[in-house]
Amino acid sequence: MRIVLLGPPGSGKGTQAVRLSEHYRVQHVSTGDILRDEVARQTELGKQAKSFMDQGELVPDQLVVDMVAARLKDSFVLDGFPRSLPQAESLDLLLKEKNLPLTAVFNLDVPEEEIVRRLTKRLVCLACKAVFPSGTQGACAKCGGKLGKRGDDKPETIRERLRVYRQKTKPLEDYYHHRQGLLRQIPGMGAPDEIFKLLTQQLDSAKSKN
Ligand code: AMP
Repeated sequence: MRIVLLGPPGSGKGTQAVRLSEHYRVQHVSTGDILRDEVARQTELGKQAKSFMDQGELVPDQLVVDMVAARLKDSFVLDGFPRSLPQAESLDLLLKEKNLPLTAVFNLDVPEEEIVRRLTKRLVCLACKAVFPSGTQGACAKCGGKLGKRGDDKPETIRERLRVYRQKTKPLEDYYHHRQGLLRQIPGMGAPDEIFKLLTQQLDSAKSKN
């Protein structure tokens, strides 16, 4: 099973990716999480990525592509990658070399006003990175870690992240739809359980056709 999750920041990709990777026992690759970890550990990659991330810009394609290529297994759910046309083309090449076609590409569709509302208010576990809605009290329900705000969930950075999304990532819907016929639109406004059900229904039917 090889899945790509597309959608704006805050559309629920991370939440669904964790659930899909547990359900189908496949690798979860979140480029945002990997990059935040590199920044926290002050690695060479982290130092190069930090200023782009702080400003809500994309980290240069080649850095991210190399980072993913070094980690990618045969079955995966990609969360936050690809995010630009060159990244999508590099992923295609990588998978072609290994003869591993994508199973499905889902776009989680959420209106922009809702995205801004979610990102401004959301809380994340500073230890395990789980995401919680605004108003969540106490510690992380998953690992007991402390909840806080993500550094790039500030109004001006959110606006920039959305601008970058529209300019660089949204065109991937066309790329996967017209060129590859792989795109499936998923309404991202429902409850996480409902969205998960839609995703697994589509994946299970794709699996049974193969
Ligand atoms: P995310 O957690 O997916 O919202 O990502 C947080 C930040 O990490 C983004 O705003 C970018 O600066 C960077 N980032 C994550 N994934 C990518 C990617 N595929 N390409 C370039 N930059 C990325």
